Amino acid sequence: MATATMPRRPTKARKYQTKILIGGQWRDSVSGKTFKTIDPSTEEVITEIAMGDAADIDLAVKAARKTFDDRKGVWRKMDARDRGRLMHRLADLIEEHIDELAELETLDNGKPIAESRNVDLPLVIDCFRYYAGWADKIQGQVVPIRGNYLCYTKKEPVGVAGQIIPWNFPLLMAAWKWGPALAAGCVSVLKPASSTALTALRLGELAMEAGYPAGVVNVVPGRGSVAGDALAKHPGVDKIAFTGSTEVGYGLMKICSETLKRLTFELGGKSPNVIFADADLDTAVQGSMLGLFFNQGQCCCAGSRLFVEDKAHDEFVEKLSKKVESRKVGDPFDPDTEQGPQVDKNQYDTIMSYIEKGNKEGAKCVTGGERLGDKGFFIKPTIFDNVTDNMTIAREEIFGPVLSVLKFRDIDEVIDRGNANEYGLAAAVWTRDIGKAHAIADGMRAGTVWVNCYDVFDAAAPFGGFKKSGFGRELGEKGLDSYTEMKTVTISLA
Ligand code: NAD
Ligand code: MN
Repeated sequence: MATATMPRRPTKARKYQTKILIGGQWRDSVSGKTFKTIDPSTEEVITEIAMGDAADIDLAVKAARKTFDDRKGVWRKMDARDRGRLMHRLADLIEEHIDELAELETLDNGKPIAESRNVDLPLVIDCFRYYAGWADKIQGQVVPIRGNYLCYTKKEPVGVAGQIIPWNFPLLMAAWKWGPALAAGCVSVLKPASSTALTALRLGELAMEAGYPAGVVNVVPGRGSVAGDALAKHPGVDKIAFTGSTEVGYGLMKICSETLKRLTFELGGKSPNVIFADADLDTAVQGSMLGLFFNQGQCCCAGSRLFVEDKAHDEFVEKLSKKVESRKVGDPFDPDTEQGPQVDKNQYDTIMSYIEKGNKEGAKCVTGGERLGDKGFFIKPTIFDNVTDNMTIAREEIFGPVLSVLKFRDIDEVIDRGNANEYGLAAAVWTRDIGKAHAIADGMRAGTVWVNCYDVFDAAAPFGGFKKSGFGRELGEKGLDSYTEMKTVTISLA
């Protein structure tokens, strides 16, 4: 995966954008307060970032509102094709700065540089280019109604979008939010996660360089319970797009009901990954490993419940453990590293407590189960075998490098057990039997089903959850739709 130009760890002298972007201006927080962001592989402070609160959110929403509501202004009057060109320009700028952005992502988040450089960043660029292509293709229909009328529909931008994103794919989540919003003609107030705000701020700089009019994109870092909360409450915001935990989702939905905001929620998951004995086991081992351990296990769609058909169980677990034990865990700036540290101390502690619960409740830890080293939030890739459906590690989202292996006998049983969970984000199946593949694809109540693959993402393919994994879809045409309102115009021809 390593490329010749693999970026290095930045020196201490390196300067970062740490201010708040409001109405095209970079400013300190109204309160003057800042917060520290940490390099999770060294536990050292990288820099201090302006900490936005309700006052900053208010300024940002007003700036966004002003840009959106100005009917004679640069944004409303811009031709859709030029909006697309701006997005292409931003994509080009990201590509020009791909090494720098990957370096910043790895520094702040801890993900391996080979992944930020060769997975995250290419997906970010692709997302902007994909939606750039949509900007001038958002159109309505002529509707044949009764009587002497011309009736047509058009799709208009929803307005000011408050966008709250998590820390696991900081830039990619920003792209999933800005891509459809900007293509649709919305304006954004983006609230990045506080542990990983640096790349969103740099993205804000690039958007300004690309020529976005002031107020179209605003970036306000700050605490979720303060800045995120203020964004959800603000009457000037038309829509909240939130990616994060289901728990926070409950609260946000309540708050947003008071102003009847449009909502799209991408929440948690506990996705079943089903291995039939007739699968190509080596491919399934590789795919299942990545399906859980990719990104330090910090994926909403992680295949964290691995159901293995009983006759293949022993062989599969042995192969999988060997593979997992050979994973290279360590310095995320080493181009060969496959697993870096967890994003912060909080996540590290939560994951360790789940490992403790796994042991206590009688699961068998076949590999890992402990911290790696004594500096940085590194956890050895961990597999629990003999897991049963009622154990905590089989029910709750761990969001770390901890895999639960469960046994099953037949297909109806595994569909029932796979669905016996409050989440419904993704599912996967590995088999050579197309009938079984279809049965799983059909039977699992999940927004995405992968067959003989895992984590295949594309800007064109809708993604989102059933049940408590959220509602609405991101990516694809469906993702764009959630940033538009439909207007029906009826003209009397009499
Ligand atoms: P989180 O819910 O704690 O935080 C997500 C974002 O919401 C952050 O920006 C945070 O500051 C903000 N926030 C926190 N409390 C808030 C509040 N009270 N009001 C408004 N905003 C608030 O989640 P996290 O720990 O950052 O991310 C991990 C979770 O996100 C996992 O559950 C994971 O499954 C989920 N996730 C889902 C998807 C998806 O597409 N479905 C993608 C990535 C992550
Ligand atoms: Mn950080």
